[in-house]
Amino acid sequence: MDAAGAWDKLTAEIREVSLLSGAAASLAWDQQTYMPKGSGGLRGKQMSILSRLCHERAVAPQVGEWLDTLGAADLPEQRQVAIRKLRRDYDREVKLPGSLIERQALARTAGFEKWMEAKTAKDFSIFRPALEELLAISKEKAAAIDADRHPLQVLMEKYDPGVSIPALQSTFARLQEGLTALITGVGDAPARELGGHWPLEAQKALHTDVAAALGYDFATGRIDPAEHPFTISLGHGDTRITTHYYEDDLLAGLGGTVHETGHALYEQGLPSDLFGTGLDSAASFGLHESQSRFWENAIGRSLPFFEWLQPRLDARFPGNGKQAVDLYRAANRIQPGFIRVQADEVTYNLHVIVRVELELALFEGRLAVADLPDAWNEKYTKYLGITPPDDAVGVLQDVHWSSGAFAYFQSYTLGNLYAAAFLATLRQDLPDLDDRVRAGEFRPILDWLRDRVHRHGRTLDGPERVRAVVGERDYVEDLLSYLWSRHGALYGLTRPA
Ligand SMILES: [Zn+2]
Repeated sequence: MDAAGAWDKLTAEIREVSLLSGAAASLAWDQQTYMPKGSGGLRGKQMSILSRLCHERAVAPQVGEWLDTLGAADLPEQRQVAIRKLRRDYDREVKLPGSLIERQALARTAGFEKWMEAKTAKDFSIFRPALEELLAISKEKAAAIDADRHPLQVLMEKYDPGVSIPALQSTFARLQEGLTALITGVGDAPARELGGHWPLEAQKALHTDVAAALGYDFATGRIDPAEHPFTISLGHGDTRITTHYYEDDLLAGLGGTVHETGHALYEQGLPSDLFGTGLDSAASFGLHESQSRFWENAIGRSLPFFEWLQPRLDARFPGNGKQAVDLYRAANRIQPGFIRVQADEVTYNLHVIVRVELELALFEGRLAVADLPDAWNEKYTKYLGITPPDDAVGVLQDVHWSSGAFAYFQSYTLGNLYAAAFLATLRQDLPDLDDRVRAGEFRPILDWLRDRVHRHGRTLDGPERVRAVVGERDYVEDLLSYLWSRHGALYGLTRPA
């Protein structure tokens, strides 16, 4: 077959596999939103078959042959890039036996159910056997792909290609030192709770107002409640947000929605014209997270944002009595807490560092799953100065490990680092950024991200894309100086020289 024929066959096949995995995504969305509690067994079987089908088609010998033909052909540059990325995916995936993929899909469904049950009972031991199985499967996967390299490094390359564990460790060490100095400076400053009672229907309306104002397209999206907020794309033309509303905590729910909106804006801005080339997806999880963190923190926790929000809040909650500055102060209180998703933007990264260190210990065989809760509590005591009173607010709080998503947490802090570098660069390009936000003119910000990040899909890996946008910068310094400028001012602190 000639190169043109191979290209047509390959892209047609990729399109079909993408549509199939989009169908699996719609089942996953349903599972975490509206599926009846007792239907998990059936759903597990459905998802297991779909993931096996996707896997079998993605690694079929003919796909390898088309890639061989195209790898040797003289192609336009963008197609060469596509073939390199697809080859990398193929070489990775082809080493995984279908039986392992299927076993993982079943273990994920069982893991999610056991995790929910354990969290409700505040008892890790209920989840432990499922987690042991998920960890064993992940280790087998890593060994099947490349038995000679660090298993977590091998797994991480699926989410954050181009990031190495040693580089990550030194970045995190510098960051932790800088954050600890800020957290120590803040000390026991009194918490600035917003308080109040926020009826859910009005919150839903407000969240819709905000997501729409930021540019989220409701014609191809929707917001639904879920236990653990997430964004999921079912393909080009259907990107859904979920969130969690709290009657007594306006900002926790709103921050979650703004965060997920950031993810969704990236998905909605991906190059649908590259459908079938494998270049039409996000570049990495770290880069994805940079988009959500950027909107959630850099924009959504800024004073100009709350000045824009206040009249909209008053319209939805007449007589609530909160001023923009009350919202700003409450959204930016720094206080070590147990829950990562409710953490302020400073202590947040310490939650991530705890998880990455524990994953390293689990994959290096230095830590047994049975000892995970104790190791978790020790690190919280050491890094955040607080000890979780039970497993529900400790080791069981995150959904990730319940689906075997290891090597994922680093992407959150990478996202914060990239977002800080984007903000510093955007401020140079858009000097009146704060005025724009105060006026609700979010479009130039979205256009900037669309032009530099979203529309490029996966043509570059995450770290390369960031460098292409911001040049050579020290992201740790970008993040620390951003945090010090906001929180130093709020808490009356000067950054030590
Ligand atoms: Zn996120």
